[in-house]
Amino acid sequence: MSDKLVRAIASNGDIRIIAAITTELVNEGVKIHECAPTAAAALGRMLTAGTLMGAMLKSEKDSLTIQMSGGGEAKGVVVTAYPDASVKGYIGNPKVDLPANSKGKLDVGGAIGINGKVTVIKDMGLREPYVGQIPIYSGEVGDDLAYYFTVSEQTPSAVGLGVLVDTDLSIKAAGGFIIQMMPGANELAADLVTYRLQDMKSVTDYIVQGMSIEEILQFIFEDMDLKILDNMTPKYQCDCTRDKVERIFMSIGEKDLTEIYNENKTEELKCHFCNTRYEFTNEQIGEILKKSESDD
Ligand SMILES: [Zn+2]
Repeated sequence: MSDKLVRAIASNGDIRIIAAITTELVNEGVKIHECAPTAAAALGRMLTAGTLMGAMLKSEKDSLTIQMSGGGEAKGVVVTAYPDASVKGYIGNPKVDLPANSKGKLDVGGAIGINGKVTVIKDMGLREPYVGQIPIYSGEVGDDLAYYFTVSEQTPSAVGLGVLVDTDLSIKAAGGFIIQMMPGANELAADLVTYRLQDMKSVTDYIVQGMSIEEILQFIFEDMDLKILDNMTPKYQCDCTRDKVERIFMSIGEKDLTEIYNENKTEELKCHFCNTRYEFTNEQIGEILKKSESDD
């Protein structure tokens, strides 16, 4: 089943739904970062959450970043997503691999840790970005984001995220959903959704069975007037360029740049999100230095 993100409503618009199959995009991210299984599940859940929350942004120039740092061996996970459902991310320690948790699942909560915060940053082109922050509750990502929506955005939400890692470390299935109750929503509808979600297996179980994202939603929202509004193709995509990397390099300041130049050194900078390497020869560093001096 290829990757697909859908937006939908149910129960006469009382319920807002964003859901996606993200197997290919998670596989891409996990391959770039050469993740061990627990790291793959942690990064994959965050990438899935990112693409879902990115698709909730209103303007095409907006962007959204989710950071989770809980003091665990994962050493933090960061994803940045855009309204076109593209997403990029990285994990501090892609080699983190823990024994399965008590439910026999990859121990994402253990890898991320619970001594820290979830931070959601929305850049909406204003002078200051919107920043929402809550303490990490379980480190399992889905629960934490549900808590974030309820507390920080006052929108009661259910967040389901799943990543199934195959024995060859490729991604067998990945996907997730965000279900939100709109203000004044019918409480019976909310209760019904809660019961259905409790009964439900992991979203990856349905994806492995070959169910489409629409079929999974039909299953949750049976007899609840589900309406699919539109769909997009989520993807792993980095937007780094040599120009952007050069600007970051310049920001270390003239003093340090001069030192590197005078010592006849070259420099290699790596993009955290896609691992592309950008080399700067000594001659190029000299030119950057000239540019930075003329900027004063
Ligand atoms: Zn990049």
